[in-house]
Formats: sequence, structure tokens, C-alpha cells
Amino acid sequence: MYGKFGETLRKELDSIREQGLYKEERLLESPQGAEIKVGGKKVLNFCANNYLGLASDPRVVDAARQTLDKWGYGLSSVRFICGTTDLHKQLESEISDFLGTEDTILYAAAFDANGGVFEPLLDKNSAIITDQLNHASIIDGVRLAKARRFIYDHLDMNHLESKLREASDAEFRIIVTDGVFSMDCDPAPLNDICDLADKYQSMVLVDDSHATGFVGPTGRGTPEAFGVTDRVDIVTSTLGKALGGALGGFTSGRKEIVEWLRQKSRPYLFSNSVPPMICGAALEVLRILREDPEPLQRLKRNQVLLREGLKDLGFDVTSCDHAIIPVHFRNHENDALMAQGMANDLLEEGIYCIGFSFPVVPRGQARIRLQASAAHTVEQIDRCLAAFAKIGRKHGAI
Ligand SMILES: *Cc1c(COP(=O)(O)O)cnc(C)c1O
Repeated sequence: MYGKFGETLRKELDSIREQGLYKEERLLESPQGAEIKVGGKKVLNFCANNYLGLASDPRVVDAARQTLDKWGYGLSSVRFICGTTDLHKQLESEISDFLGTEDTILYAAAFDANGGVFEPLLDKNSAIITDQLNHASIIDGVRLAKARRFIYDHLDMNHLESKLREASDAEFRIIVTDGVFSMDCDPAPLNDICDLADKYQSMVLVDDSHATGFVGPTGRGTPEAFGVTDRVDIVTSTLGKALGGALGGFTSGRKEIVEWLRQKSRPYLFSNSVPPMICGAALEVLRILREDPEPLQRLKRNQVLLREGLKDLGFDVTSCDHAIIPVHFRNHENDALMAQGMANDLLEEGIYCIGFSFPVVPRGQARIRLQASAAHTVEQIDRCLAAFAKIGRKHGAI
């Protein structure tokens, strides 16, 4: 029967192409970094999650290589059969130390951490109270659980409170939120969320993928930024962004929770062990974070330079204390065209960034989302600002 099915898919694909929703992939011709090669041309990269600039850091690459030589390529096993090495235990323990949690369990990705955290912990007598704009992996993970689901309006604490009241007959409750939401760089107010959790007897889970390693005074993430490290029960996060950018994720928190996940979490039990070279590289990343304050300092300097520079030029920039810098075009007639057109012209100027428009963001909220990295030099930030000035004037954005 494939003929008819394939034809249906071809029609659907044509349709998303016509709507301009087809996702093209641009080929990198160099390692990830502040400067990358695309289309035979060197450009400055302002759209990677390479916040601490560690994706191609020689120390990290070297640690991966040394682990590869010592431990081989893969483990060909899940953790509980014959896929656990001392490196896995050490990495779990060092992540716990870094975050100030009791224990940590590794996954192949944060997508899996979120996919495997709700179903084993929360049955039909429990309630999951989740922010409307939480990451896709949380939405999917919540779907797999038998628990009742309550969705509150994005960051709306009054609405969250009313949902907690609605869920008051559940045996257990958990509030679930991204630590920082990546489209708007807006942090979840974890102090208020923890206060509500205390008032209504709820646990708290934070997905800190866009914060671990670089948000908060020492980079411990949004719980550190809000001073609630000991009040958050579960943190999920990724090794695929600031922490080296390869692959891997984890769930960290109360020790009984992590112990239970090791027994029951399906992406952990039925999916392969994280390769040793990733563990070795991630251990080196954590060593760098402990001993070398420079990446974090450079990132914090760069995000301020970029954000304040764009503001000074007259751009409509969201202000958060974060490396994500959304540049909006909401006062312009066709914001989507402006975001798209500017991103294309900026690439011609050697600045690689992405324009987001409907349906990725709500209608009328098209933007270019820049991401600062510790890898950028001051001179590179200046080049980005000069290009924004030139292209912004050309498009009438400033
Ligand atoms: C990127 C991201 C993930 C997925 O991380 P992977 O490790 O790449 O699977 C999950 N949650 C949030 C909030 C993210 O930003």
C-alpha cells in the first residue's frame, strides 16, 4: 500500500514547503565555534547553544580523545547489563556535586531524561502542573504518565495557584517548568514557584537545559540564580548545550527519586549507555567550570556587550540576564519578512543568525534570536553590531 501513503506524504511536504515551513539544514564545513564555515564562507556564529564555547575547546576534545583511546568507542549495552564504567559513576557524582543535589542519573539526551521521569514517578493519583510553553520533551514525557495533567498560562503564578488548588485532591503534585525559556530568554520565577509548592504541598521539577553551566553567579543554573537549590526536587538538563555540546542528559535531585528511576525509567533501562568518551569529556567540562572562571566571565561580558550594543543602536531587544538575546520587530508592518530578510542579509555580511516567525513564535512576534558565546571575542561582537547597524538601517528596523 506504500504508493498511496508516499503520495500523501509528498503532498503534505509540498504543502509545508509552500507555506514556508519546510526546515532546510545548512551544512557546516568546520567544527562548531565562534567562527564557522558555511557555503564556502567564514561567518561568525550567533545561533549555537555553545554558551561556554566548550564545543571545540582543545581541553575537552583532548579529554574525549584520551577516553576514546583508553575505553574504546562504545559499550554495546544498557547500563544495568554491562554498560556501566567508573566514568559513568564519577560523572553522575560530579554533576550532583556541581548542582548541589543528592544523586544524578545519566541519559542519552535530556529528551530522554524528560521522557523517562514522569511515568515511573507519578501514577493516576498524582497531578502534574506544567507551564504552557514547556519544552517539547516535557510535553511528551508528561503524556506518557498516567497522572492528571494541569496546564498553567506561561509564567502566570495566579493561574498556577488556581491549578494547584484544582489538583488539591491528588495524592502527590509536581510543578514542572523550564528554568529559562529559550524563545524569550525569560526565566521561571523559581522563588515564587517554590513558595507556591510549599503552600500547596507540591514538588518542583526544573528543566535547566538553557541554564546549566552558565546561569547564576557560579553557573549552577536557575535554582542558584533564585537561591532555591535545596527547594527544587528534580533538575533535568543536557550535556548538549553549555556543557560541551555533544550529547547526553541527566536527571538530578533527591536520592530516592534517582534510585527509583534507575529501577523503572524506560529510556534508562532500554536504551544504550552514554559512550565513555562523552563521560570523559563531560568530566573535563566540569573540571573547567570548577577551576577556570574565564569561560563564564567571558560569556557574561559578551552577553552584556551584545545586548547593550543592540539597544544603543535602537533595536527592540528583550532584556534578561541571559546569553539569549531576542531582537524584535513588533512595531513594523511585516515583522516576519523583516526578521527573515535581515537574517539573510546578515549572513551576507558574515553574521550567522536565525529569524523566527509564526508558527515557531506567535503571530506578530517575529524576531532574530542571537546567542552569545564565551568563544566570541570583543572584536567579533563589534563586527556583529556593525552588521546589525548596516542591515537594520537598510530594512528600516532602526
Ligand atoms: C535542548 C533542550 C532539551 C533537549 O536536550 P537534548 O539533550 O538535546 O535532548 C530538553 N529541554 C530543554 C528545555 C531544552 O532546551
